[in-house]
Amino acid sequence: MTGFPFAAAAPVEHQAPLPKLADVVVIGGGIAGICTAWELAGQGLKVVVCEKGRVAAEQSGRNWGWVRAQGRDPAEIPLALEARRHWARWSERLGPGLGFRTVGVSYLARTEAELAGYEAWLQHARAHDLDTRLLSQAEVARLIPGGPEHWIGALHTASDCRAEPWVAVPMIARAVAQAGVAIRENCAVRALDIQGGQVIGVITESGRIRADAVVLAAGAWSSLFLRAHGLALPQLSVLSSVGATGPMPSVFEGAAADRDFALRRRADGGYTLAAASSHVMSVGPDALRQPRAFWPLLRQDWRATRLRPAAPRGFPDAWTTPRRWSPDRPGPFEAMRVLNPTADNAALDSACDAFAAAFPALGRPVLRARWGGMIDTLPDVVPVLDRVAALPGLVLGTGLSGHGFGIGPTVGRVLAALVANDDPGHDLTRFRHARFSDGSRLTPGPAL
Ligand SMILES: Cc1cc2nc3c(=O)[nH]c(=O)nc-3n(C[C@H](O)[C@H](O)[C@H](O)COP(=O)(O)OP(=O)(O)OC[C@H]3O[C@@H](n4cnc5c(N)ncnc54)[C@H](O)[C@@H]3O)c2cc1C
Repeated sequence: MTGFPFAAAAPVEHQAPLPKLADVVVIGGGIAGICTAWELAGQGLKVVVCEKGRVAAEQSGRNWGWVRAQGRDPAEIPLALEARRHWARWSERLGPGLGFRTVGVSYLARTEAELAGYEAWLQHARAHDLDTRLLSQAEVARLIPGGPEHWIGALHTASDCRAEPWVAVPMIARAVAQAGVAIRENCAVRALDIQGGQVIGVITESGRIRADAVVLAAGAWSSLFLRAHGLALPQLSVLSSVGATGPMPSVFEGAAADRDFALRRRADGGYTLAAASSHVMSVGPDALRQPRAFWPLLRQDWRATRLRPAAPRGFPDAWTTPRRWSPDRPGPFEAMRVLNPTADNAALDSACDAFAAAFPALGRPVLRARWGGMIDTLPDVVPVLDRVAALPGLVLGTGLSGHGFGIGPTVGRVLAALVANDDPGHDLTRFRHARFSDGSRLTPGPAL
């Protein structure tokens, strides 16, 4: 049994020399940061990506690999539709290794109530001309042969896709480096360099970089980073666990979930499995600071959320993680190069049981790897994609709340447009930073 493929001990692949001067510094080598750098380089800008650990070693490599429009918050659907085009272009450019395929996504229902919940989302599909539809029991049986009879229907989007996270994001990063972006791993940004209320660059563990703009795409670390500069972002990290089987016969080439488990066929013939909606939230200072902001989400999701009294040492919201540090010395980002939480084995075992019960002919799946990922969640389960009004020069792209892999390439394009003061091409009102401070009511979207 192994854990996630990229540990902090893995060899460093990107070690570009740090320039003293750049147009833009991107903090974070996940899909959001890497795709932002690609778009900025396409504008002819000199770009540096600073990654404290390894490219794609946190959420962007650890996720399920669903590239979907189905079930999203209505404001995210246009981003998801644009993302399909970016993914298709990346696939043409980099080849089949990316694992990008249009194979469909299905949410399987066991009860009329579940089906009715899915049906309610169809209005959003219609508004965006999506091919999402409700499948009958017979259609589900044809789509997923050998599945149980208790799947009485499904929400299905045939045009949704999949890709291979821990292969695709590093491949894209290599292309971005070849395009001239300086990517540097093991390079934590300790602080923003601020002069006269304006961001003028960053202070990294390897020295300062002056830059006209900085993009913070630091995933689960964003809130900790911002708070040290007096900026609030109500972000919590929740643990979600994933397992990978070895090659198995195909039951469905796409991605599907019912209430007990989620599966996604991988390019190597195995499945990525998870307990569909089970996660663990550790209580820490951030969680206590903003219980009211997260209350609607917790109420909606209480069955699926297990609370723990403390996050492991060194995690962004652990009790002992420093909230202030000097940029002259190593801080919390260097102390945890790769956030590599222990998987919730009970949740994964129950996902395996549910898979085995659904497909008895295949036997109980054997997980050859198990890992956890910390999802950077905001109270309304949609990201912040915005300039920071209080700190000119800083752009935020974070809080992708468990569904940023699929839309990552669009997030990059949008963040690059925000840096350049161009039209982002989408209505970003729902993603504005000020919603957490201007008295707006925070309403979780459907996020099915
Ligand atoms: C288990 C799991 C399943 C998921 N399934 C899906 C799915 O099927 N489909 C989907 O669309 N989404 C899914 N997601 C969500 C998706 O993976 C994330 O939304 C997305 O990867 C976020 O990308 P990111 O670049 O914003 O953050 P990350 O990938 O977390 O990258 C942030 C990076 O910033 C670096 N960093 C942080 N602070 C600093 C600093 N100070 N200096 C330098 N570097 C720093 C970190 O080391 C990290 O590499 C899933 C997530 C998880 C965990």
